Amino acid sequence: MSEILFDRIALIGIGLIGSSIARDIKKLSLAKDVVISTRSAETLKRAEELGLGTAYTLSAAEAVKDADLVIVSVPVGASEAVARDIAPHLKPGAIVTDVGSTKASVIAQMAPHMPDGVHFIPGHPLAGTEKSGPDAGFTGLFKGRWCIFTPLPGTDRAALERLSNFWKALGSMIDEMDPQHHDKVLAIVSHLPHIIAYNIVGTADDLETVTESEVIKYSASGFRDFTRLAASDPTMWRDVCLHNKDAILEMLARFSEDLAYLQRAIRWGEGDKLFELFSRTRTIRRSIVQAGQDVDSPDFGRHALDK
Ligand code: NAP
Repeated sequence: MSEILFDRIALIGIGLIGSSIARDIKKLSLAKDVVISTRSAETLKRAEELGLGTAYTLSAAEAVKDADLVIVSVPVGASEAVARDIAPHLKPGAIVTDVGSTKASVIAQMAPHMPDGVHFIPGHPLAGTEKSGPDAGFTGLFKGRWCIFTPLPGTDRAALERLSNFWKALGSMIDEMDPQHHDKVLAIVSHLPHIIAYNIVGTADDLETVTESEVIKYSASGFRDFTRLAASDPTMWRDVCLHNKDAILEMLARFSEDLAYLQRAIRWGEGDKLFELFSRTRTIRRSIVQAGQDVDSPDFGRHALDK
């Protein structure tokens, strides 16, 4: 049974993530008032048509007035501008959190603007799809997924617990990490796979010997699984690359070395090396399915996310 966890929640940014949060708040009746704010009049109108909140405004400053919980869901590169805008209007005792895919950069952008008496608790729900905008959201996006907090030193534990309870109500599992560690972990599990996907799809697009229609026609051979990641929002991913630069470059260097090893094994016909690697990687897939982070069906269960 769900209960009102916050009287007033302000959602700054109402795309895939913001609107999924809004849908869950509404379905589970977790707040009395949900004030929605977004940058464009067009997105705000759509949020209103979808009935995602109880009040709507183009002013983030206006939206956070009297809010007990403020959730910022904008591309990470926009974090500082939002923090500067809302800071003077935050209610003492309010919790401010975000959902950004990088954490050290978001903290550097937002923390200096947060007034005393406001609890700033950076967060990152590890859930999403390649779609964006308020129509792309859906209830249950966060169910069974991890939400990682990267609290600052001296964070009020009671405020952290309140925020954890909110995400738990959305079905998330909670973890805590140091922001730098978060950025390294995410560089390998999320950022690098997206960069590799953007790269491979770009390479296929540039090929002269294989036609575009052939790439599309025969895509089920493996290529299409990369195209889902490579269809992700360009603004969001540009910002992730720019704001997790060090960790991504470190992982890319490791990746390039390992790729060179693979390249050499193929060149010299070292089948045993290839077989050993391919066997090791297969067990990772099994572990992911066993951990409930994917299902073992031919389309990786993603049809469920396309609703
Ligand atoms: P989205 O669907 O593209 O929505 C972005 C929202 O941010 C919209 O409300 C948009 O407003 C607003 N916005 C865009 N640029 C802005 C700017 N320069 N200043 C202020 N507002 C701006 O994005 P999303 O997928 O929900 O991602 C939001 C955040 O969640 C990002 O930080 C991302 O790293 C993080 N995240 C994403 C995923 C994922 O899979 N997508 C998963 C976990 C975390 P308008 O439409 O009005 O312009």
